[in-house]
Amino acid sequence: MSAIKEKSLADSELRYRRLFEAAQDGILILDAKTGAIKDVNPFLEKLLGYTEDEFISKKLWEVGAFKDIKASKNAFLALQKNEYIRYKDLPLRAKNGQLIQVEFVSNVYKEGHEKVIQCNIRDITERKQVQDALLKSEAVLREQSVRDGLTGLFNRRYMEETLRREINRAARKNYTLGVMMLDIDHFKTINDSFGHKAGDLVLREFSKMISRNIREDDIACRYGGDEFIIVLPDTSLQITCERAEQILSLTKQLQMHIEGEQVGGITASIGVSFFPDNGITKADILRTVDMALFCAKNNGRDRVILSDRQV
Ligand code: GH3
Ligand code: MG
Repeated sequence: MSAIKEKSLADSELRYRRLFEAAQDGILILDAKTGAIKDVNPFLEKLLGYTEDEFISKKLWEVGAFKDIKASKNAFLALQKNEYIRYKDLPLRAKNGQLIQVEFVSNVYKEGHEKVIQCNIRDITERKQVQDALLKSEAVLREQSVRDGLTGLFNRRYMEETLRREINRAARKNYTLGVMMLDIDHFKTINDSFGHKAGDLVLREFSKMISRNIREDDIACRYGGDEFIIVLPDTSLQITCERAEQILSLTKQLQMHIEGEQVGGITASIGVSFFPDNGITKADILRTVDMALFCAKNNGRDRVILSDRQV
């Protein structure tokens, strides 16, 4: 080899070494035949907390950080077989026990007559944490967008979607569906006598009582003001009416303390409509249940009225 060639080779090796030493990603060089670690850069030593001696000449799966990965020996076999492998999210255990999420990319190169595997290891712990936090806040936002802020029950928009979906499902599966519309009696008087905050408390306690007394599959929503809807999928007419009567009696038992005063004796009126007997579309069911509630109010309140509309 000429002196010039030798010099440029030495320069390029120096350049490579500088890149290797300064890289802000972990780099491992493995012997492709045996899996023994030939080189490790300072970034990876620091990231995982192992010294150079604890890496060099060890097999990949003998180093603590990779021991946790059950399939680490199999993974190495895959590294040997494939020219390129990328694990988007791999948990490595640092020497101090901390779990570090990394992105792991490996490539196979020829070094003279030998093959080496170069593994690039990027710490994505922080990125993962940001992503997880984002996913969580998206889930919270999604939940908030279907809930009524005051009572925590589902909101009107969610109810409209759900009612349509449940009616379709009931039609498809040939089952019946009960719907109740509830409205607190003389609620304005509570607001007028005790104030708006007291009215809010009554709405919340009424909602809690409903939530405690429906099945997991039932859907309760605040439809607006002091008006509520409960959808009872796959429920008979008799059970729906029994549930409505039970809610009426529990409403009367509600006791609240408002500014030191015990407030109770609240009543509600309930209309009941039944799929498919009183309507086969969402609009029909909402209209007939509203009419039934109107009848309950007109007939003296504190009662359940079943829609008399026949489809
Ligand atoms: P009825 O027996 O005929 O239902 O009589 P009502 O007094 O309950 O009459 P209505 O249902 O029409 O009154 C609803 C009242 O609810 C009117 C409104 O001021 C009050 N309201 C609506 N939303 C809220 C709320 O979020 N908080 C409070 N405190 N009051 C509300
Ligand atoms: Mg009312």
